[in-house]
Amino acid sequence: DNQIYYDDDASYEDIEEKTVAVLGYGSQGHAHALNLADSAIDVVVGLREGSSSRAAARDDGLRVATPTEAAAEADLVAMLVPDTVQPDVFDAIEPHLDAGDTLLFAHGFNVHYGQIEPPEDVDVSMIAPKSPGHLVRRNFEAGEGTPGLLAIYRDATGDARDEALAYAQAIGCTRAGVVETTFREETETDLFGEQAVLCGGVTELVKAGYETLVDAGYSREMAYFECMNELKLIVDLLYEGGLGEMWDSVSDTAEYGGLTRGEVVVDDHARDRMETVLEEVQNGEFAREWITENQAGRPAYTQRRKAEQAHDIEDVGAELRALFAWGGEERDAETPKAPA
Ligand code: NDP
Ligand code: MG
Ligand code: MG
Repeated sequence: DNQIYYDDDASYEDIEEKTVAVLGYGSQGHAHALNLADSAIDVVVGLREGSSSRAAARDDGLRVATPTEAAAEADLVAMLVPDTVQPDVFDAIEPHLDAGDTLLFAHGFNVHYGQIEPPEDVDVSMIAPKSPGHLVRRNFEAGEGTPGLLAIYRDATGDARDEALAYAQAIGCTRAGVVETTFREETETDLFGEQAVLCGGVTELVKAGYETLVDAGYSREMAYFECMNELKLIVDLLYEGGLGEMWDSVSDTAEYGGLTRGEVVVDDHARDRMETVLEEVQNGEFAREWITENQAGRPAYTQRRKAEQAHDIEDVGAELRALFAWGGEERDAETPKAPA
């Protein structure tokens, strides 16, 4: 099993003397930068001239420079701009990565697929919180942590792991636990998971279930509730207590039906297709396709996105969410309060 590290495994001394450049001030960037600063680490945020994030970083009390200036000053550069722009940003900062510096990532895509080839004398590591940035920040401020992953791609100095652990501690991850992995494992499992299960698999399952009911003459509203809305209740149970808690919480009828019919839908054919998806992740075919798609200005992506937005389930979902209280805060604010 993979090694798990906690606060006791990390030493503040391994990072306290260093200047950290956080490139990007988006989801991860703002959380890492603010948590590092609160941990009394010298932080400089690297953002391009005219960047819309500059004001936010300054308002939060942080020092801002261009990515190149920030990298020149730093001993550790955290690459927290979007994955698709990282190769260009890397080209700009590469001359400022000195022997013994560290280049740190929160996702392995560009290094694993050879889009970024850091100098041989630079440590290359990864601290990847398993959560969106706003939670990384909120948990830290609440005195809690966010679980994360640690990976070392290149240990040029011999201190790469200690330093990465100190970074993980400074952003709060070791409070919750940091699991050691590799750039390859993190990248390939992340891509497979989001494609086959989390994002791609779930949305296709939802749409297929919805279409099956509507095509059979059931109402769009019922199909939406059964195939989309209730998914949250099931996911919450899985998240809290795994398969066991979910099966315990639903009716025996739902449990028996699910246990016998789930595999009728996700059958050997679906598992074969999952293997194909995994192979395309492993052999780099998906990565090449996505890189080419970006170079071409994202034509297929834009078209797929439009088609998804135009799906009937989006219309009925918007109507129903607006109708009911769980439609959100805006609706709540407009709803007259019942007499007390
Ligand atoms: P974001 O999309 O939130 O990053 C946006 C930031 O990058 C902005 O500050 C933006 O500034 C800046 N930026 C965009 N383009 C450029 C450019 N060409 N040059 C310089 N700066 C630029 O990124 P994320 O935080 O989502 O992702 C960062 C890394 O973290 C990725 O490797 C991602 O895979 C990883 N990750 C993300 C997670 C998440 O939940 N989001 C979870 C775990 C890992 P501007 O105003 O100039 O556009
Ligand atoms: Mg992921
Ligand atoms: Mg991902």
